[in-house]
Amino acid sequence: MATPKKRKPSLAVFKFASCDGCQLSLLDCEDAVLAVADAVEIAYFVEARRQALAGPYDVTLVEGSVTTEEEVERIKEVRRQSGLLVTIGACATSGGIQALRNWADVGEFTRTVYASPEYIHTLDRSRPISDFVPVDFELRGCPISKQQLVDLVTSLLIGRKPSVPEHAVCNECKRQGTVCVMVAEGVPCLGPATQAGCGAICPAYNRGCYGCFGPMDLSNPAALGARFIAMGQTARDVSRAFRGFNGYSAVFRAASEQFEKDAIPS
Ligand code: SF4
Ligand code: SF4
Repeated sequence: MATPKKRKPSLAVFKFASCDGCQLSLLDCEDAVLAVADAVEIAYFVEARRQALAGPYDVTLVEGSVTTEEEVERIKEVRRQSGLLVTIGACATSGGIQALRNWADVGEFTRTVYASPEYIHTLDRSRPISDFVPVDFELRGCPISKQQLVDLVTSLLIGRKPSVPEHAVCNECKRQGTVCVMVAEGVPCLGPATQAGCGAICPAYNRGCYGCFGPMDLSNPAALGARFIAMGQTARDVSRAFRGFNGYSAVFRAASEQFEKDAIPS
């Protein structure tokens, strides 16, 4: 008697407000994607496949933040259709660079940028996916690391917990023998508070890290900000340094708001 064919797990990729960079990182995995493509049914991935298969999906990757009323409803539907839901990248995990609006008047932004702002329907804040639905795993980065993504997808396929580093970018500098730009050059660097994953690219090119992998566990942004001030930065500079791609993540948000308060004379 013929053995029944085992059903491949299905994978879906959805985009919300984002630049598509994390989806492109997935496509850029090339050989690894082709290997994975044999093991999974890529059921929904508009950038990679014309055919869209209906859910439910075993694993869903979500790129992008929630910035419109329509996206609030759509992410709830995506959640309903998904077994495991994984957010990928800074936008999905912390609101992304577009969360800069969260400290400003979005109406003023749209009036400044668009010739016909009356056509723009947007929420006044950009928020991470986990503000709206339960998320099973978050993969950081702007964009994500290809190596971490491949590890994530293969881990989910074989049922083990994905492993991502919990240490700081500084550890990557040390391993590679990169001279510390903060110690040697006095350049402010968010590396001591930022989760590793990029291979410490920026310090290798003699510039500080601006935190695109978000806060690492147990980071101490208050101490790092105090160090920046000792180096000659103002409290406002420090507030702005934390307010980058992951500025709306809880840890960097709290630090940026505290230094913003410190910048205002009482
Ligand atoms: S350059 Fe930045 S990331 Fe590298 S060791 Fe120095 S402070 Fe840490
Ligand atoms: S060093 Fe920092 S800013 Fe540069 S790529 Fe790595 S995490 Fe991003």
